[in-house]
Amino acid sequence: MEKLRLLVTTQCPNKCPMCCNNSWDFDKLPVVKHFNYKEVMITGGEPLLFPDEVAILSDAIRNANMLAYNHEVSIFIYTALADGILTVLPHVDGVVYTPHSEKDIESFLKTNRAIGLFPEVARNKSLRLNLFANMKALIPENTDLSHWQIKDMVWIKDCPVPANEEFKKVGNLWEKI
Ligand code: SF4
Repeated sequence: MEKLRLLVTTQCPNKCPMCCNNSWDFDKLPVVKHFNYKEVMITGGEPLLFPDEVAILSDAIRNANMLAYNHEVSIFIYTALADGILTVLPHVDGVVYTPHSEKDIESFLKTNRAIGLFPEVARNKSLRLNLFANMKALIPENTDLSHWQIKDMVWIKDCPVPANEEFKKVGNLWEKI
């Protein structure tokens, strides 16, 4: 399998009624034992509740892959929390940002302004913006989204894992006490 979807936490400040995680029994999810993948997608819950841990984990996965398998891995973070994006961006290949609330949009607009002012922080990074229609409507029309690849989103029931991906978790899921 070339792609790993890696669950690092089940905690999330949002409580979306259609959250994929409502349909998963995480106790049954296998624990990751190696990182011999071409692509790793770090997901939750909300991984950017733990930006420092994401940075450390991403560097560790990259180094382990080079040492053990002598190939590069692309690492992406899936998040709805824009505040931590600039912290983790130097450590990952890209961000898939999906706002789920008005507060998420406010944070996103701040981060987007920062990227506009200092575009070098996003050089050679993949920035993807997934927008549900109600979130898209909250973004002012004159917002410069040129750094982002935008995808219109709809909720998909039970969020099936694509056939070319494995879904695993870290040994100890991250928790804020
Ligand atoms: S932001 Fe994502 S992980 Fe959090 S509750 Fe909503 S759908 Fe679930």
